[in-house]
Amino acid sequence: MSTSVLVINCGSSSIKYALISEQAKDRIYGLAENLGSADARIKGVTIGGQPLELSIPHADHEQALETILSRLSQYKPQAIGHRVVHGGTLTKAELLTDTIVERIREATPLAPLHNPAHLVGIDATMRLFPELPQVAVFDTAFHQTMPAHAYRYAVPKFLYTEHNVRRYGFHGTSHAYVSERGSELAGNLKQGGWLTAHLGNGSSTCAIWNGQSVDTSMGLTPLEGVVMGTRSGDVDPSLHSFLAANLGWDVYKIDRMLNKESGLLGLSDLSNDMRTLIEASEQGNEDATLAIEVFCYRLAKSLAAISCGLPRIDGLIFTGGIGENSAYIREKTLSYLPHFGFNLNKTQNNELKRGTEGRIDQGHGPQIWVIPTDEEARIAQETRQVAAQTSLLSKKSELAVEPA
Ligand code: ADP
Repeated sequence: MSTSVLVINCGSSSIKYALISEQAKDRIYGLAENLGSADARIKGVTIGGQPLELSIPHADHEQALETILSRLSQYKPQAIGHRVVHGGTLTKAELLTDTIVERIREATPLAPLHNPAHLVGIDATMRLFPELPQVAVFDTAFHQTMPAHAYRYAVPKFLYTEHNVRRYGFHGTSHAYVSERGSELAGNLKQGGWLTAHLGNGSSTCAIWNGQSVDTSMGLTPLEGVVMGTRSGDVDPSLHSFLAANLGWDVYKIDRMLNKESGLLGLSDLSNDMRTLIEASEQGNEDATLAIEVFCYRLAKSLAAISCGLPRIDGLIFTGGIGENSAYIREKTLSYLPHFGFNLNKTQNNELKRGTEGRIDQGHGPQIWVIPTDEEARIAQETRQVAAQTSLLSKKSELAVEPA
């Protein structure tokens, strides 16, 4: 683990961490949760695969990070990679300098729930490990290759030029990872068109041509696009003025409703969890059945819409908790795309279990794959690349100042 990278993903009251070896073969990982409360704890897995559970009452982000890092001190990482949701217009992973930290801070209005938490984590690790290269890997960066006709909204131009109002897209590390992995598995699709569907609590679709994102379902924020666990996805933008005028709701209440009380939870009035809904639907719950139906139809509609960015569809990849696990959702979604020429192999579809990758088409038409996402491995890989370039650059500049 001597050339390992520590991947940190800071949420508002949690920290996911993973120490990943060079070929992503070995991994120590875990989650610090309920930070700031009496119930704060770390749950994880050690290198031998042993479970770890540690109570850290009232620990904040920095204290939790200190505990995590002290437990990992024997495997000193060569770099730290931070997952950062919104990089604004930053187009690639960046070494964390004061300027880059400032750019992340400037992007906060675009990701008010996520970026402040990332900054707390960055601040803590920079103080704890000033000697280690630290890299920010952005969910938005992969989508910076979208053409303007895909990322611009049809609103007055100054909102874009002066206030950065445009579509950014998210889940970039996941779409990048699974499409690259899909290309490897398919052997011949590096030049070609993939559609990817990342279906977790948050869900998004992406169209990828020759390895580059050309369109995606999420926009300025992660609310746009398909139906999610608690997020509505696309609604008529006039819903805001309707609710304000008729129910007297302010923007914060509307925003909370669309982000936290909508999606599968809102439709079913039962749960944001797809497993619960599938079970309830099997027992005859009509709201759960409708929620699943809307989810699959809107997902198919999104895939069809963003396929306009591709000259050709060579394959479709399902990933994320729902995409990797639910043969039922995959089949139902494809049933809404009969005109795209997909030929699902139902037996293979039904046989794929959690964590398994595999091809589920009949061998003709566009390929269909299930590929477990690995955002941590992708973040570690990008962190390693940036850190390597940086040490190369600093070696070159050391050489340059050698006396003649
Ligand atoms: P996150 O986006 O928080 O990382 P995940 O990618 O783990 O979340 O996805 C969580 C979703 O995956 C939940 O809706 C959960 O119900 C769903 N899920 C997990 N296993 C199954 C399954 N066997 N069948 C259907 N849905 C599943």
